[in-house]
Amino acid sequence: MGLSVGIIGLPNVGKTTLLNALARTSAEVSNYPFCTKDRNVGVAEVPDERLVRLKEVLKPQSTIPATVTFVDIAGLVKGASRGEGLGNKFLAYVREADALAHVVRCFSDPDVAHVDGSVDPVRDVQVVETELILADLEVAERAVSRREKAARSGDKEAKEELELLRKVVDALGRGEPIRSLELSPEESRALRGFSFLTSKPVIYVANTGEEEPAGGELFERLREAVGEVVPISAKVESEISELDDPEERRAFLEDMGLEESGVERLVRASYKLLGLITFYTTAHGKLRAWPVPEGTTAQEAAGEVHSDMERGFIRAEVVSWEDLVRTGSWAELHRTGKVRSEGRDYQVQDGDVLLFHFRT
Ligand code: GDP
Repeated sequence: MGLSVGIIGLPNVGKTTLLNALARTSAEVSNYPFCTKDRNVGVAEVPDERLVRLKEVLKPQSTIPATVTFVDIAGLVKGASRGEGLGNKFLAYVREADALAHVVRCFSDPDVAHVDGSVDPVRDVQVVETELILADLEVAERAVSRREKAARSGDKEAKEELELLRKVVDALGRGEPIRSLELSPEESRALRGFSFLTSKPVIYVANTGEEEPAGGELFERLREAVGEVVPISAKVESEISELDDPEERRAFLEDMGLEESGVERLVRASYKLLGLITFYTTAHGKLRAWPVPEGTTAQEAAGEVHSDMERGFIRAEVVSWEDLVRTGSWAELHRTGKVRSEGRDYQVQDGDVLLFHFRT
């Protein structure tokens, strides 16, 4: 499934509405969204101007965009860390996500009930954060007591981990998420196995309602409290996503004074949050965008396409997407010496177009 973003938030804030809008943007993926009782999955296409330009000049038989998988994780209520609502099951689902989109209600429609009786985005964020912090605290405290025993018997590694875990427990005890700690790469690696909920990168999404899709007073209050927030009206997004004609979509957005849809903004922001970059392949009449983590090597990139290519990797031919758009052909780029030959350890750059050579 690749990397995924878990959509979290209190009940009735618009998570499902948003996920449906996200999923409807992906026409090429046929078997999504699939639903389970308490989990919906939606695969959203990543808006990509470069892919559009490449498609125009290369006229491939098929074009496959990069996607981000969103998982709507229902069931977070006050007390989830103590087993309320879906409790532990909910937390296990959050643990599986690579990053979180925290949806916060900023619309005041009296017809939609709020679990706490009033609309207060800053309080809502705290309720959710507190549950995640308490769940992490329990895991961290248990780990501390296990390591205390090992450390007493002189285990050096356990001693180091103990120190780190105590730092984590202190932060959580102060109500601070683990992501707020400044950890060294080694420390982050040491904690990875715990899948702490508050160590995941988070993006805040304000569901602003249809009256004020670009913001509003409640949105501003939220932004003051948490920093960067993506404003979205889940209801408007679900209306936009029902328009099949891209021109109609544009006109709709223009009428609302928006340049791109909230869904597009959210997908773009999530892609960045996951630390992903895009490379392209053009072989066999198929133009395809591939999402990979920053720092991916040419050989690892080959493995995204096919495991045989990674195993038998010889080298990659690399051109920039701009050069390919400008000339329209690999042959022309070969002629003008614009094709580089790179080895297995080459770090793939955002916007590279790759052609792999491999032994079968
Ligand atoms: P979830 O429990 O977080 O998944 O929330 P839902 O997506 O099921 O939405 C809960 C209710 O809020 C539904 O009745 C939606 O129609 C309504 N809702 C969602 N987004 C908006 C919005 O932007 N404006 C208004 N007025 N209602 C919304």
